[in-house]
Amino acid sequence: MRAQNNPATSAQDLQADILKHLNTSLGKDARHATLYDWRMSLSLALRDRVVGPWFDSTRKTYEGKHKRVYYLSMEFLIGRLIEDVTINLNLEEPAREAIAALGQDYDQVVKDEPDAALGNGGLGRLAACFMDSLSTLAIPAYGYGIRYEHGLFEQHFENGQQIETPEGWLTQRHAWEFERPEVSYHIHFGGHVSETDGKTVWHPAETIVASAYDTPTVGWQGKWANTLRLWAAKPIKLFDLEAFNRGDYVGANAPERLARTISRVLYPDDTTEVGKELRLKQEYFFTAASIKDVLRRFLSEGHDLKQLHDHVAIQLNDTHPAIAGPELVRILADEHGLDLDEAIEIARNCLGYTNHTLLPEALERWPEGLFARVLPRHFHIIAHIQDRHLAATGSDVRIIDHGNVNMGELAFVMAHRVNGVSALHSDLVKTTVFADLNKAYPNRIINQTNGVTPRRWLYSCNPALRGLINDTIGTGWQTDLGKLSDLNAHLGDAAFLEAYRHAKSDNKDRLAQWLKAKHDVTINTQAMFDIQIKRIHEYKRQHMNILETIALWNDIRDNPNGNWTPRVKIFGGKAAPGYMLAKSIIRLINDVATTINNDPVTRDLLQVVYPENYNVTMAEILIPASDLSEQISTAGKEASGTGNMKLSLNGSPTIGTLDGANVEIREHVGAENFFLFGLTADQAEATRNHHGYARRAIEASPRLSRVLGQIAEGVFSGGDRHRYSDILHNLYEHDYFLVTCDFDEYYDAQRQVDAAYADPTGWARMAAANTAGMGWFSSDRTIRGYADDIWSIKSVW
Ligand SMILES: *Cc1c(COP(=O)(O)O)cnc(C)c1O
Repeated sequence: MRAQNNPATSAQDLQADILKHLNTSLGKDARHATLYDWRMSLSLALRDRVVGPWFDSTRKTYEGKHKRVYYLSMEFLIGRLIEDVTINLNLEEPAREAIAALGQDYDQVVKDEPDAALGNGGLGRLAACFMDSLSTLAIPAYGYGIRYEHGLFEQHFENGQQIETPEGWLTQRHAWEFERPEVSYHIHFGGHVSETDGKTVWHPAETIVASAYDTPTVGWQGKWANTLRLWAAKPIKLFDLEAFNRGDYVGANAPERLARTISRVLYPDDTTEVGKELRLKQEYFFTAASIKDVLRRFLSEGHDLKQLHDHVAIQLNDTHPAIAGPELVRILADEHGLDLDEAIEIARNCLGYTNHTLLPEALERWPEGLFARVLPRHFHIIAHIQDRHLAATGSDVRIIDHGNVNMGELAFVMAHRVNGVSALHSDLVKTTVFADLNKAYPNRIINQTNGVTPRRWLYSCNPALRGLINDTIGTGWQTDLGKLSDLNAHLGDAAFLEAYRHAKSDNKDRLAQWLKAKHDVTINTQAMFDIQIKRIHEYKRQHMNILETIALWNDIRDNPNGNWTPRVKIFGGKAAPGYMLAKSIIRLINDVATTINNDPVTRDLLQVVYPENYNVTMAEILIPASDLSEQISTAGKEASGTGNMKLSLNGSPTIGTLDGANVEIREHVGAENFFLFGLTADQAEATRNHHGYARRAIEASPRLSRVLGQIAEGVFSGGDRHRYSDILHNLYEHDYFLVTCDFDEYYDAQRQVDAAYADPTGWARMAAANTAGMGWFSSDRTIRGYADDIWSIKSVW
């Protein structure tokens, strides 16, 4: 397909459009414009250039009656968009020039954009990478989610402790979206169900409006653009005038407040089941609006509902939108008169379900009573789905069980494909959570290993490495990341390795400057940058990392003149506000940082830094500067990870366990370029059967015993012996995540890292081998897998 509607834009054109928007969209003249005004004007001028490809793509899809993918996700962790759009439209230079010609600092303008933080972590970021790849591959697609007024909370530290403040990305106008007041649907809750003349009717008690906001997502070189459609909740009745006239001014606003609650906040936790009515309503709200939208579009093209799956593929990103199955069945049966069983078949042919976790506490289930009260008709339909499933398979796995509605089982039974997100994870899905359903539906579970978009996670965030790659193997890797393997031919080339080291060192300088400017910390850029960035969770084992840090500190103090490899340990990540142990881990890291960073004996050899409020933008600064990637989760617990991919791609070898996609990363970059340690998933499971394993492991490790003793004595808490009793108690008494069992091997692996890092050329080769080997982890490859194996859809070229 030829690139159309993307005429080469000169800096002058762009400059004129920025000024025009400044005047006519922002109502400002240049003399009085603020940074916000310039940023908005630039964004709007860029958005103008996305609209052409966007219209073309939509038109082509309608004209060709092409199948579309609908990606339903509670989260889209998008980050900033100015750079995303400029790199995809090849407008980086013109944008920079135009803003400079207007007398503004381009980098400041870019930095003024708030992060669209509509997600918690990996799951939401995956959805954002998928949107990028779907557009780059010209696959007609819609992302559907919620337009949260408040995205993920902002994290601050006070005395080392996490404090949360609400995030306000929508307090300013969102430059990239188009409000669609005409696209709105009534969404119902509650009430009762009646049966008259064989016709089932749901009489809901409560109704709110779902109103659409569209953000175009443009792919590489502007050849295609899809839509991210986010729903905002609004009241059907704006305002209670009667109450107002009675003088009840607060009550008059009640309808609006109630409705808006639904799209007000992102639940700040995706690793525990949230038993909240509001959460269930959020899930139904965006799923139901999306399904209505899908069917409206489908019917407008004049197709027969029996052919739905020829035109519609719906992907459920985890179970949060699992109500899509019963909702689709309800509409087909109750509103279009299809037979229930036929409706179930039609729905199943359209639906795919991606499982993201094996943690039992993260599998969504709703109390039956609550569910039946909020969604009475769906409850009946689910019971029917269950009866059919039990009768057809002879399986005894129930969806409604022990007073709960199990959303994992529901999603499984209603999907024609269920996928895990790494090879190991998909195998575990088959043998653990869904072992019985796997027997009832053999071949339904498949694997689609996650990926990341190389446009944002290499090309855009790492200009230094991008330049070197272009100079070494040419371009083309941006959309064909496998080409990076051409770098392998240069791994023996001293000049290439020297240039690779230079690129890394530039990125490290950039990070150091940012830390100084934003967080007022000074770090040694000659040291190894050892980075662990991800949500704080016991299974991710940040506490094992900080315990190892203390052990290393002890060893350096015992032998200050030893041949130590200087390190800066950098942490980033938020804890769910109600997750007390994770918050203790954060505090411990900060306390240890304070102690160690102030120790004159070790200061030049070991530093700990924990910048607050990790998000996509921070990731874009940290990842290119990383020397070592910490992927140390308990084997069998991290479904895939994508942070591991971003880091390795950017030349940061992994120290890690055989968990999630680490397994495949190690295969692709070579075992000699990966620092492996720890129990395997099988061994971890076996270890848990031996009562008292944690205590025994601690007793067997003098190094670990000493560290735990220091924490208990208050060495890092100003003498307070109780501050970390929760962590200590957990490690001695439970340690479900096996920190104690893996600790010594982890410590030893870190010393192997030290030795390897001491050889700069050898390390550069290892880092470059990581970049060269990571081509397979592009989200383009992942999306092609979904397109072939789940959606049966092709690129429109
Ligand atoms: C990639 C990414 C994640 C996922 O990191 P994992 O290490 O895979 O858990 C989380 N948050 C942000 C901001 C990311 O960019």
